[in-house]
Amino acid sequence: MKLRRLSALAFLSCLLVTAPLSAQDMGPYDVLITGGHVIDGTGNPWFTADVGIRGGKIVAVGKLTGATAARTIDARGKVVTPGFIDIHSHASQGLQSEDARRRAAPNVVTQGVTTVVINPDGGGPISMSEQRATLERLGIGLNAIQLVPHNSVRREVLGEDFQRRATPAEIARMRALVHQGMEEGAYGLSAGLEYVPGIWSDTDELVALTEEIVPYDGLFHVHERAGGLEPMWFRPSVDDPEDVGANRTTMLDFVNELIEVGERTGAKVHFTHMKVRGAPFWGSGGAANSLINRARARGVRITGDQYPYTTSGSDGSVTLLPEWALGEERWGGGADNATPDYREALRRTLSDPSKAAGLRRDIEHEIAYRGGAENIVVFDHPDRSFIGKSVAELAAARGQTPTEFAITLQLEGFPDRAGGARARSFSFNEEDIEVIAAQPWAATASDGGIALPEDGPTTHARYYGTFPRKIRRYAMDRGVLSVESAVRAGTSLPAQILGLRNRGLVQEGFSADVVVMDLTRIRDMATFENPHQFAQGIEYVLVNGKFVVDGEGHVTGSLVGAVISRKDGLVPPSVR
Ligand SMILES: [Zn+2]
Repeated sequence: MKLRRLSALAFLSCLLVTAPLSAQDMGPYDVLITGGHVIDGTGNPWFTADVGIRGGKIVAVGKLTGATAARTIDARGKVVTPGFIDIHSHASQGLQSEDARRRAAPNVVTQGVTTVVINPDGGGPISMSEQRATLERLGIGLNAIQLVPHNSVRREVLGEDFQRRATPAEIARMRALVHQGMEEGAYGLSAGLEYVPGIWSDTDELVALTEEIVPYDGLFHVHERAGGLEPMWFRPSVDDPEDVGANRTTMLDFVNELIEVGERTGAKVHFTHMKVRGAPFWGSGGAANSLINRARARGVRITGDQYPYTTSGSDGSVTLLPEWALGEERWGGGADNATPDYREALRRTLSDPSKAAGLRRDIEHEIAYRGGAENIVVFDHPDRSFIGKSVAELAAARGQTPTEFAITLQLEGFPDRAGGARARSFSFNEEDIEVIAAQPWAATASDGGIALPEDGPTTHARYYGTFPRKIRRYAMDRGVLSVESAVRAGTSLPAQILGLRNRGLVQEGFSADVVVMDLTRIRDMATFENPHQFAQGIEYVLVNGKFVVDGEGHVTGSLVGAVISRKDGLVPPSVR
């Protein structure tokens, strides 16, 4: 009897193994993509297969000769990949816009991105259900995943009295808000420890709040306390290096703190937009990797992501002059609407010898932090001859030191613009980007949002180019990782980090977030002079089985995205 049962089981399991082969879904499909090289997101090398899509799902991957479909895409000579999952996105503002062109996220979907993780850096609304309802009511062009934002939670509980550690009662109230956000479907908790008011949270606060996401296996997704030797807001003339935030002031100290949170809570912890900022710290990417790899070897669930550029978001509004010298409030106050006259404020600072000495000390520090005056380029100034030149070059031409020239830029520049000019610094180095990109746990993320050409010239190129650039520059041109690994870093890896099921692979049963690209032409086109340019080589993009890019550069504007809730799985978009 026992034996018979066993053999019946063996027979059944045989059936289970062979059944999918004999029962291949041969359509008809909504969409059939034929003859492409499938890079399926696992990191495995490409294989040739047709891909059948119906009802928003991938229903068949294989040789589908003779199958019929409402729409067939001939992908011979092309590559078929999963849609990219951008694990650090500032798209939420654009997705909540009244303007449907923004909600279609043209600069994002034309990179092949089909899902964005919103509310990073600790910023965003506290109510996940309200944000989700807004996105669902308006309709969005790609899928969104929510994080509970720590800075918003902290501000809600501590109010204006935030430059201190939280009390046990306040931590209990913050925990309740994090718990509620997770109940409402968020995939984790985001923090921005270099920003107000997260700067003043200590490790115990982070541990307590992270404990709230553990029952959901949520992700603690963290913007660093410092990207280099000190936090970006550090000014030597006014800040005591021993008294900043939780007294952890370098990027490597931050990595250790994040590991500690992971170790004490058992939670998945994530170093988002991992970077090494500032020449004094360049070369530390390998040390950060080593800390992470050693922690992983003893079971800490730590991962990271990066954007493939040598310049950050804050690098794009580099002022070189400290805010105090321009009469600016330090921590985001001072909202009087009068047009500021920064020249006049700077003249007042210069007329006080001790303040002038502090000013020069802070400028020198800022230039060093940005990697030197040769790494700071002027993009707009009343003197048009300055444009496109570095501060080092311009200072030398004037016979000034870079520090004195930073003062000149303001005194001769736009009086209502802090710093007098629009400048961008390039404060990372390539070696750090490359050693991080080569790590198997390092996902790709844009740290960008939604942009339209009318947003002007300050848009970071990463808004348009992140995912194609990772493939073109770091895989194909520089050989830092394989193309298959670069695809994995933007697809199944972020899906796994998030705990997102059924997305991130070209596989039967997975949601039909699919990209058809031409690898021979794939390239990011956005530059810092001219950022509003779609990437090249992304020919078709499907979100939940519907076309959002239908032919290169042709954004359909279809609002077929969904808010993906950890609680409910996919919420099907209503017919729009
Ligand atoms: Zn950030």
